[in-house]
Amino acid sequence: MKPAKFDYYDPRSLEEALTLLDTHQGDCKVLAGGQSLMPLLNMRLARPNVVVDINRIKELNYVRPNDGGIAVGALARQRALQTDKVIAERVPILQEAAYYIAHPQIRSRGTICGSIAHADPAAELPALALALDAEMTLTSAKAARTVGAEAFFQSFFTTALEANEILTEVRFPAPPKDGAWSVLEISRRHGDFAIAGIVAGLALDSDRQIIRRARLVYFGVGPTPIRVKAAEDALIGQAALESAFEAAAQSASQGIDPSNDIHASEEYRRAVAATLTKRALRAALQKLTEK
Ligand SMILES: Cc1cc2nc3c(=O)[nH]c(=O)nc-3n(C[C@H](O)[C@H](O)[C@H](O)COP(=O)(O)OP(=O)(O)OC[C@H]3O[C@@H](n4cnc5c(N)ncnc54)[C@H](O)[C@@H]3O)c2cc1C
Repeated sequence: MKPAKFDYYDPRSLEEALTLLDTHQGDCKVLAGGQSLMPLLNMRLARPNVVVDINRIKELNYVRPNDGGIAVGALARQRALQTDKVIAERVPILQEAAYYIAHPQIRSRGTICGSIAHADPAAELPALALALDAEMTLTSAKAARTVGAEAFFQSFFTTALEANEILTEVRFPAPPKDGAWSVLEISRRHGDFAIAGIVAGLALDSDRQIIRRARLVYFGVGPTPIRVKAAEDALIGQAALESAFEAAAQSASQGIDPSNDIHASEEYRRAVAATLTKRALRAALQKLTEK
């Protein structure tokens, strides 16, 4: 299929792009990597009258150290998750997650910010943004504002972004050094969107027996990535043993909001989330014991 007609702009500066968005508010789509937008246009599920291609705005193409973490500009590709040394050193769980995101061709065009802006509930990067307390910079022609991940993801493919705003930067803070992270998912084929997935973080007390902190964020099992605080509470203060992991898994399977669709039933997704919880916690614990 071919897209419906639209006017195409490829501005060279952020200012120019933001002016275009302001002028055509509500009738305009930003084109970044195009790996989600182009299929939507081709299938006519999106029919904007104007497309603003940001690929020529060089100032948006960066990954930089930021405090202990990293700052990622709107044009940094998902491929950077696997190749950028700053990411590997500072937020290595992002590198691990990249393995699950689509395929090399898609990662070499698709952007990190594009995935977050698109907010597919089964995508890995929105879940990582929530798990790691990432912050987004949303920029319009008039102002820039910062929104935390919890407020950013609002519903299926719906975020805090206004029609005249570009997600210009996402900042991932460095995860605390005393913790370990794991990301896992189940999909029908490698590179497909997840049927269910998890980002799990764990930290132990000084004698490495008791769980001091836990973070459990799920994707593919609700309208947004979902942090299940009840499952985290089932872990905190407990010995890092299978019994605690089992309790967290049961709690998580009830704390998510999966739907039935052609890929899997609600019941199956709950069961997968429970199993992944135990696997991810074991993997994080293993990393802690190797530190
Ligand atoms: C076959 C296939 C398999 C895939 N598998 C996975 C997978 O397993 N996991 C996964 O996470 N993704 C997967 N994807 C999607 C891929 O990661 C996309 O690259 C990503 O979702 C969107 O990034 P993009 O840069 O391509 O954005 P685009 O396609 O250009 O844009 C997507 C949407 O976000 C908006 N947008 C993009 N950037 C910005 C910005 N900076 N500010 C404001 N709005 C913006 C656009 O207007 C559009 O509405 C897959 C894609 C394909 C084609």
